[in-house]
Amino acid sequence: MSISLHIPFSNAYAALPDRFYARVLPTPVKNPALIRFNSALAQELGIELNADSACSTDNNSDNQLAQIFSGNEIPDNAAPLAMAYSGHQFGQLNPQLGDGRAILLGDLLDIQGQRRDIQLKGSGRTPFSRSGDGRSPLGPVLREYILCEAMHALGVPTTRALAAVSSGEWVIRDGREPGAVFTRVAASHIRVGTFQYFALRRDGEAVKQLADHVMARHYPHINSNDDDAYRHLFEAICRKQAELIAQWMQIGFIHGVMNTDNMTVSGEAIDYGPCAFMDAYHPETVFSSIDRNGRYAYQNQPAIGQWNLARLAETLLPLFNDDEKIAVEKATAILQDFALWQQQAWLEHMREKLGFSALKNSDQALIENLLALLAEGRIDYTLFFRRLSDCSQPDNERQALLELLNLPECRSSATLLQNINNWLDDWQQQLIQRGDSDSAGQRMLNKNPAFIPRNHRVAEAIAAAEEGDFSVFEQLLQVLAEPYSSKAEYADYEQPPKPDEKVLRTFCGT
Ligand code: AMP
Ligand code: MG
Repeated sequence: MSISLHIPFSNAYAALPDRFYARVLPTPVKNPALIRFNSALAQELGIELNADSACSTDNNSDNQLAQIFSGNEIPDNAAPLAMAYSGHQFGQLNPQLGDGRAILLGDLLDIQGQRRDIQLKGSGRTPFSRSGDGRSPLGPVLREYILCEAMHALGVPTTRALAAVSSGEWVIRDGREPGAVFTRVAASHIRVGTFQYFALRRDGEAVKQLADHVMARHYPHINSNDDDAYRHLFEAICRKQAELIAQWMQIGFIHGVMNTDNMTVSGEAIDYGPCAFMDAYHPETVFSSIDRNGRYAYQNQPAIGQWNLARLAETLLPLFNDDEKIAVEKATAILQDFALWQQQAWLEHMREKLGFSALKNSDQALIENLLALLAEGRIDYTLFFRRLSDCSQPDNERQALLELLNLPECRSSATLLQNINNWLDDWQQQLIQRGDSDSAGQRMLNKNPAFIPRNHRVAEAIAAAEEGDFSVFEQLLQVLAEPYSSKAEYADYEQPPKPDEKVLRTFCGT
């Protein structure tokens, strides 16, 4: 009458010394009910779901999945623990954070042989909870589910969603909200802040053990016997972050809370709290209600990435060289390169967005001129590039693209319209000169998404779910699963919010 679920845990993190974590069990919830289980991801992870009996029904298996992914039942071979970490939050060091509302069930080798973590979020208090309740409201759980799966479909390295379960309990935030538990899958949950935790405690041995673990797990191409192995490790992490942040910039994503505890060393995006996609383009855009000074504004993300990586470098200096001066020189050189790698990666993405098959020196100016026009007019970033994809040839009709200037939030003017038309003429000429004109349109449609998780759509899905209707959430996930293929029946999902639908602020979800 039931299913058996086998998760092939092998738990490499739990094999690290005791001071890396606290062993702790999830606190059971009252009445778990499965909201969603990501079967495709489960397959990738090598999770086996076997119906024990012909009588097994969907309801039975849903109930059992809810028991496991709420933390009420601990799967065989799990080694539940809360990870220790510190972090700079908005620039301020907090020496002890750690998993206050998350519990790592364990890690495993997936069917590709990659190690992956399975973590419950909202599963009860841990020794790192401080004054928090260890729980998560339903809204942030659904938000993280939607955002991380959308990012994955957009091709961005990210943690993933394996399951969402409602808890049947209330959590108290501003008011009473339904509770839920989220199951997150990550290449690992090791953060810049994990390194900081040990460095702050002057525990050089632990920093080295952690670095060795990260090297073997995420960067196996590095020869650990090389004299410069840890410098190579730092460089590899910087390269991954340069690419990740370039990806965010090119899709108009604002992470919103780039604290050092929210930056992985694997290069996956993590912690979808107050994050948001821009609708109207402006480089200073901020959504997060707690980011009062705009530290984590859209345009600041590359510099903040570099700042966070400098904090990581500080923890690794003793491993770079015994002579601190030499160690600092090595770290500084890589951090300077980070800025170049990030800029180069971003230029390559923007080149693709414009349909060019190769980057030319003059492209940077062309891109910056376009972005200045978008910012001046507060033009919808995603829709502009999507519609631009249909304008690569001089005889293409520009009307659909230029209509974007009539959207309510736009600051349109005759001069702006003229400047955009001039820019389009220049760009089309460039495509012709480079022999890219015929193929650009299709390539651009594969690079410029039609569907992003727009804030108002996410808010709408959460609001319906809070009233017990999960169909809006399900539908949104379906739309976002194929972001590059427009479909007539989903045309509304391409649209920016109407003035009364606009979401101006996003919240942390703690
Ligand atoms: P985050 O905002 O998710 O990056 O969390 C920052 C820190 O606060 C982490 O150490 C979390 O574990 C902790 N935290 C956030 N929410 C809660 C909660 N409801 N209960 C306990 N700890 C929490
Ligand atoms: Mg966090």
